[in-house]
Amino acid sequence: MQGLMMDYQLTVDRILEHANRFFAHKQVITKQPDGSIHRYTYGDMYRRVKRMAKALVQLGVQPGDRIGTFSWNNYQHLELYYAIPGAGAVCHTLNIRLHPDQLAYIINHAEDKLIFVDGTLLPALERLADQLPTVEHVVVFNAPREVQSKLPGLLHYEDLVAQSDEDFTWRCTDERQASVLCYTSGTTGNPKGVLYDHRALFLHAYGECQANALGLCELDTVLPVVPQFHVMAWGLPFGCPMAGANMVMPGPHLNPAALAQLIEDERVTVAAGVPSIWNGLYQELRSKPRDISCIRALVVGGSAMPRGLIEAYERDLHVNVMHAWGMTEMSPLGTVSIPHTQHQQLSQQEIWDIKALQGYALAGVELRIVNDAGEELPWDGTTMGELQVRGPWITKGYYKVEPAPESFTADGWFRTGDVATITGDGYMCITDRTKDLIKSGGEWISSVALENKLMAHPKVVEAAVIAIPNQQWGERPLAAVVLAPNASANEEELIGYLAESFAKFELPDKIVFVAEVPKTSVGKFDKKVVRQRFAEGQLL
Ligand code: ADP
Repeated sequence: MQGLMMDYQLTVDRILEHANRFFAHKQVITKQPDGSIHRYTYGDMYRRVKRMAKALVQLGVQPGDRIGTFSWNNYQHLELYYAIPGAGAVCHTLNIRLHPDQLAYIINHAEDKLIFVDGTLLPALERLADQLPTVEHVVVFNAPREVQSKLPGLLHYEDLVAQSDEDFTWRCTDERQASVLCYTSGTTGNPKGVLYDHRALFLHAYGECQANALGLCELDTVLPVVPQFHVMAWGLPFGCPMAGANMVMPGPHLNPAALAQLIEDERVTVAAGVPSIWNGLYQELRSKPRDISCIRALVVGGSAMPRGLIEAYERDLHVNVMHAWGMTEMSPLGTVSIPHTQHQQLSQQEIWDIKALQGYALAGVELRIVNDAGEELPWDGTTMGELQVRGPWITKGYYKVEPAPESFTADGWFRTGDVATITGDGYMCITDRTKDLIKSGGEWISSVALENKLMAHPKVVEAAVIAIPNQQWGERPLAAVVLAPNASANEEELIGYLAESFAKFELPDKIVFVAEVPKTSVGKFDKKVVRQRFAEGQLL
C-alpha cells in the first residue's frame, strides 16, 4: 500500500524561501577584495537572487544550461548558488586554482554558456579567452565599470540585477533536475564531473544540520574557509540558510592573520576548512593570541587532520575540533567524529584519538568495508578494506562519462578509493587512499598513520609519505618532512621516534627534509608530485 503524503519536491529554492520567511534578518557578511566589510541580510539576498534568476532567463538561459562561476567565497557567489538553479540551470563551480589547461578542459567539457567571474580573477580567466567556444557571455562583479576584457560578451553583474525585477517564479520544479556541477580535482587523469540534483543538495543540507553532525542552528555564525569552488564549500551555502545561521565569507583573504581577525570580529561559532588552513591559523594564534572563544566547532576535512594538531588546538587554544570526511561524489559530507556517551570515561588523550578518526556516518549515508573479492569485512577497528558508500546524496555516475564500472559495485555501492577500518561502535578510520597505500612484502603500510605520527612531533610541521619501488619488498615508505622554523632534527632521530609506535617493517627507509610539501589545487598534499620528484632524483 502506498503512503498518503504530499508530492513535495525537495528543490533548493525552497531553502531560500524558508530563509527569507523565517530568517530574513540574519546576515551574510563578506570581506571584499579591498578589505572592507559588506553586510546584508538573507532578505536582501533573496530579492537579489530573484532579480538575477529573472535576468538569466531574459539572457536566454534554458533549463539545464551550464553556467560557470569563477570566484572566491562572497555574497555574489552565494547568490549565484540560488539564482542559477532557481532559473532551472546548472551552477558549475570552477576551481580557480586549476592549471589553465584543466580549466579550459572542464569549461569545454561542461559546455558552459555563461561564466560569472570575480573581477579580481578576470586576468586568470582571460588567459583562456580564445579557447572557450561555448561561452556567450562573461558576467563580472567586483570590478570597476570601465573594465575591459578580451572575453566574449562582457556584462556587469550589477547591471543585470538593476535592470531586472523580483517578479519571478522559480523554474526548478522537479527535485531530480540538475542544480550544481562540480569536477573532482583530477589528482588522477582528467577531472570528472559530479552532477548534483536538487534533492541531493536539499537532503545533504538536512544531513549536515543534524545535531550529531554539524548541528547548524540559528545561533550559529559560520565561516566557510573551504572555497565555494571546492565541493560547494561543503554544502554550507545550503545548510546555513536552512538553519538560519549567519554566514561570514572571507573573499580572497585567506591568510591566517586575516582569518583570525574575521573570527574574532564577527564572533564566528563554526569555521570549516582543510587541515593546512588550520595549521596556519594555529601558528598565527600562538604567535599573536586573539579571542576566538566564540568557536564551538572548528570543522576540518578534505584530508586527515593530524592527531597532533587536534590536540594542539584543544590543549593550547581550547578550541573544539570536529573532524569530518567526505568526497566530491558525496555532496560531500559522509562522516563526522564526535565522541559519544560511550567515550565519557575516556582520558583526554583517548578522546583525541577518537577525534582523529574520520567518524560515524550521517543518517542518510551507509558505509561498508570489503576485501579484494568484494566480501564485507568485520567492524573490529583493525581489519582494513576498501570503503564503499551509498545514500541519497551520493553520485551514481559521472557527467558525460559512459558508465564507470570501476567506481561502482554491481549492487550499487560507490567505491570511494579509500582504505579504512571501522570500530565496533562504527567509527571509521581512513588508513589510506588505495593508490597511496604502501605494499611491502605482502603487508600493507598506512602512509597516513606514518604522516600523522611524524606531524605530531614538535619539530615537524608537514610530512608526506610515499611508496618507493624496492626490489626485495615491492615497495617501501619514504617520508618527505618539513621541519618547524628554526628546528633541527636528523633522520635517525625521527626514525627512532617512529619506532616507539610502529613495527620495524613499517618504518620509512628514508626521511628527506624539504622546504615544503607540494599541495593540490584544494590544499591537499600532492603525493603525485612528491612521487614524481623522487622519480626525477630530487629527493635522494
Ligand atoms: P580530490 O582528492 O580528488 O580532490 P575530494 O576533494 O572529493 O577529491 O576528496 C575526497 C578524498 O579526500 C577522500 O576520498 C579522502 O581520501 C580524502 N579525505 C577527505 N576528508 C578526509 C579526512 N577527514 N581524512 C582523510 N582523508 C580525507
